[in-house]
Amino acid sequence: MTIQQSIPAPPDAAQPAEAAARVTPMMEQYLEIKAANPGLLLFYRMGDFYELFFEDAEIASRALGIMLTKRGKHQGMDIPMCGVPVERSDDYLHRLIALGHRVAVCEQMEDPAAARARGNKSVVRRDVVRLVTPGTLTEDTLLDARTNNYLLAIARARASSGGDRIGLAWIDISTSEFIVTECGTGELAATLSRINPNEVIVTDALYGDPDLGPLLRELPAVTPLTRDVFDSATAERRLCDYFAVATMDGLSAMSRLEATAAAAAVTYIDRTQVGKRPPLSPPSREAAGTTMAIDPATRANLELTRTLSGERRGSLLDAIDRTVTPAGSRLLAQRLAAPLTDSGAIARRLDAIAAFVADSAARDDIRTTLRAAPDMSRALARLSVGRGGPRDIAGLRDGIFAAAAALARLQRLDDPPPEIIAVMDAMRCPSRELAREFERALADQLPLIKRDGGFVREGYEAALDEARNLRDASRLVVAAMQARYADETGVKGLKIRHNNVLGYFVEVTAQHGDRLMAPPLNAIFIHRQTLAGQIRFTTAELGEIEAKIANAGDRALGLELEIFERLCALAMTASEDLRAAAHAFAMLDVATALAKLAVDDNYVRPEVDTSLTFAIEGGRHPVVEQALKRDGQPFIANACDLSPVPPPYPPPQAGEGRVGAGQIWLITGPNMAGKSTFLRQNALIAILAQIGSFVPAARARIGIVDRLFSRVGAADDLARGRSTFMVEMVETAIILNQASERSLVILDEIGRGTATFDGLSIAWAAIEHLHESNRCRALFATHYHELTALSAKLPRLFNATVRVKEWQGDVVFLHEVLPGSADRSYGIQVARLAGLPAPVIARAKSVLAKLEAQDRGQTARALVDDLPLFAVPSRAAAEPAPPSEAEQLIEAVAALHPDEMSPREALEALYALKAKLPKTP
Ligand code: ADP
Ligand code: MG
Repeated sequence: MTIQQSIPAPPDAAQPAEAAARVTPMMEQYLEIKAANPGLLLFYRMGDFYELFFEDAEIASRALGIMLTKRGKHQGMDIPMCGVPVERSDDYLHRLIALGHRVAVCEQMEDPAAARARGNKSVVRRDVVRLVTPGTLTEDTLLDARTNNYLLAIARARASSGGDRIGLAWIDISTSEFIVTECGTGELAATLSRINPNEVIVTDALYGDPDLGPLLRELPAVTPLTRDVFDSATAERRLCDYFAVATMDGLSAMSRLEATAAAAAVTYIDRTQVGKRPPLSPPSREAAGTTMAIDPATRANLELTRTLSGERRGSLLDAIDRTVTPAGSRLLAQRLAAPLTDSGAIARRLDAIAAFVADSAARDDIRTTLRAAPDMSRALARLSVGRGGPRDIAGLRDGIFAAAAALARLQRLDDPPPEIIAVMDAMRCPSRELAREFERALADQLPLIKRDGGFVREGYEAALDEARNLRDASRLVVAAMQARYADETGVKGLKIRHNNVLGYFVEVTAQHGDRLMAPPLNAIFIHRQTLAGQIRFTTAELGEIEAKIANAGDRALGLELEIFERLCALAMTASEDLRAAAHAFAMLDVATALAKLAVDDNYVRPEVDTSLTFAIEGGRHPVVEQALKRDGQPFIANACDLSPVPPPYPPPQAGEGRVGAGQIWLITGPNMAGKSTFLRQNALIAILAQIGSFVPAARARIGIVDRLFSRVGAADDLARGRSTFMVEMVETAIILNQASERSLVILDEIGRGTATFDGLSIAWAAIEHLHESNRCRALFATHYHELTALSAKLPRLFNATVRVKEWQGDVVFLHEVLPGSADRSYGIQVARLAGLPAPVIARAKSVLAKLEAQDRGQTARALVDDLPLFAVPSRAAAEPAPPSEAEQLIEAVAALHPDEMSPREALEALYALKAKLPKTP
C-alpha cells in the first residue's frame, strides 16, 4: 500500500495564500501548521480533544466511523470537523496508522490562560510535537509485542554496467535495533521479504524506476522522499550528528551506500520525532551471504511466519514458538526470517540449546524468571522519547532484578557454552543499585500515565509528602464542611462534589434547592447550575479551600513529575547496559524455548557443516505433526538423502574440479499421499537447522544451504490470488537461472497449470536442467509418471514414491516414502472418497482405461533414448562443445578438392576419412 505523501522538511513552511484577513486567528494558525505538514492528517489539540478539519475530517470520520460536524466558516463555506478525545487518541491513531495514514500531532504549547493574558484575539500557541507513522512507533498500544516494527530506508548506487547496488538500513526505534546491508538488485526481493518492514522510505527516482518501482510500490507504507535525504555526500555528517560523534569509524563499518541509507533513516526519524532523538544502537552491518537467501514466494509457500491465508496460527513460527516473553518471540521471528550460513555461528546457537536440553531444571527455572521479566527495550525506547510512564520505570526495575536472578541461576550451570557466557556477561552489567533506587521511589500501585500522579512512594521525598499532606488535609476539611453544611441547612443528602468545569460545588436534590436559594441561606450559597434532578451551589469558603487544594495538588504533581524526570535520566545513563541485558533475556528466552520444543516434540541436534550433504533420517513435518497430534494421529517419519552420490556417480568431469552435486528425488504417488508434506518438511528441517535449532528428525546431517527455493504448481497456489501459470513459470525461471550447487530446490507439481503435454515437457526439461546445470539438491513431486523414466539416464536422479494400499477398491494412505515410482495417481479413488457422484466416478474410470490403452509411457521411453544430455548447457563449461564426429567428417570431406588430387592423394584421403569414423566394436 502506498500513501502518496511526503514528510516535510521542518519549518520554512509556505504561508498559505488564502490565509488572508477573513480567517479567524485560530484558523490562520491551523492552516499554517497544516501547510507545513502536507500529506499528514493533522490532530489539532483543542482542550480535551484532537480536532481534525476540512478534508482531514472527512478522511478520519470515514476511517474511524466518527461523526462529522461543522465549525464556523472558511471563505464562506462550512468547515467540516471531527474530533477524538485525547484520552482515547491512541486507539484512533492505531486505526489510522493501520490503514496506512500518517498523523501530525499538534499540541497546545501553553496554558490557555497565558494566551488570554496576551489579549483577546490571541490564540494558544501550538506546535507539532510528533509525526506518527507506521515505522516510527513506540507505544505498546500501537505495537504488536511479538513482532519488530521496522522502518526501512532504501538507497541505490547506479552502475554504468547495469549491476546497480542497493543499500538498505532498517531501524526499530521501539527496540533501538539498527542494521545495514547491501545487495544487488536481483536479491532485493528476497532481502525485503526477510526484513518485512512496516514502513519504507525511498528516493523519488527509485520509486519511479520502471524495474524496481513496481516491487517497491507493493511494500507497506512507502514514502518517496526528496534527494537530499538520500544525499551520500552529507550522509556521514548526518549520522555523526545523530550519534553525537566526530566520526562513525569507531561505531560501525559501513559502505558509502549503506551509510547513505542509514543517514536517510535517521533523518526521517529526526523529522518524525520532532527534535527528540531515540537512542539507537550503532548500525550493525550484515555482511552479504551470511544468511540463507529465501525469496518471497518461497517464504509464503513454506508458511514460515504466516500461513498462505495470512495468519500466524498454522505457520512454522507459531508451531515452534515456546518463548515466554515478547522480546524472545521477536528474536525467534528474526532468526527464522534469516537462517545463517556460517556453520560456526550455527553451532554456537545449538550449543546453548543443547545445554538447556540437558538440564531441564535450569531450563524451567530460567523460564520462570523470564516470565516475570518485562519488555525492557521497548520501555527504554518510550522513556527516551518522553513517552514513557511510571510503569516503564517499574519495568526496568523488575528487569534488573530478573537479570540478577537469571544470572544467579546460570552460574549454577556446569560448563556453560560461549553463548550463555555472553548472556551472563550482559546480565552482570545493569546496576542493581539503580533498581533499588527505582524500588525506593515507586509506589506499589502505578498509574498508566505520569500526569495522573500518585506513583511516588510515600516517604521517598519529604517535600512531596508535605504537599500531599496539605492536599489531603484540605480534602478532609471538605468532608467536614459537607457535614457542617448538611447540618446547617438541614438537608441530609447535601453533597460536596468536584468536576473539571465547576471545580468543587455543593449539590442538593431539586426539592431542596429552594431552601438554599431563599434567605437566610442564600447569603452563603450562591447558585451555579440547575440540572434535571439536582441544583448546584458554591460558597466563598469552598472557593478558598478549592484554591488551596488545587495548589497543594499541583505542587505534589509537579514534584512527582520532577522525580519522574530524575528517574528517567538515571535510566538513560544506564541505557546501554539495560539494552544489552534486554537482548540477553531475548537470547536466553529463545535458547530455553527451543530446548523445550526439542524435549517436548522430540527434536534432535542437527549436524551442520560445509559439505553438500543432505541426509535426514526419520524426518517429520513440524507443523503437520503437531496438528495430527492434536487429533491423536501419528505422523509417519520419512528419510531423505540428497547428498552427492559417491563416485563413480557422477563421473568426474575433466577440468571441472566439481566432485559434488546433489541428488534429485523425483516423488510420485497418489493424491493425498503426502508428497507436498514430505517436500516441505525437508525444506523446513534445513531452515530450522540453520537458525540453530534442533530439528524434527531422528538424525539430520546438512551441508549449509545458501539459497532455498520452493515452488508450487499453479493449481495448488490459490491463496496468492494470482495463481496463473505465468507466475509459476516466472518463479521456475528464477530457480533455473539462480540455483547453485549449494542451493536446495523444492518443486511441487510444476507444470500443472497448462495442457498435459505442455506441462510434462516443461517439467521434463526443468529436471534435466537442474541435474546438468544447477546440480543442486532437489525434491520434485509430480503426477507425470512418465518423468520417472528419466532416472535411467540421469545418474543423480532417484525415484521415490509414497506408498498406498488398495483395499476393496479404496486407497489407504500409508504416508511412507520409499524408493520406486507410482504407476498411477489414484485420482479417481480420491475423488470417490471426496464424494463425487457414482456415475461420474464410473465414467471417469472408463475414460481412464481408454487413455491408458494408448500408453503414454511408450512415448516417455522413446524420449529418454534420445535424451540430449550434452545439449543442456553446463554452468562451468560454457564454452562451445567440441565438434561431434559427424561434424568433423563433414568438415574433412568439404576440405577435399578432387580435381586437384592425384589418384594416390585421393586414395590417401579416403583412408584418412575412414580413420575418422567411430570405432565399431
Ligand atoms: P499430496 O501432496 O501427496 O497430495 P499432502 O502432502 O498434501 O499430499 O498430504 C495430504 C495429507 O496427508 C496431509 O494433510 C496430512 O494430513 C497427511 N499426511 C501427509 N504426510 C503424512 C505423514 N508423513 N504422516 C501422517 N500423515 C501425513
Ligand atoms: Mg501436493
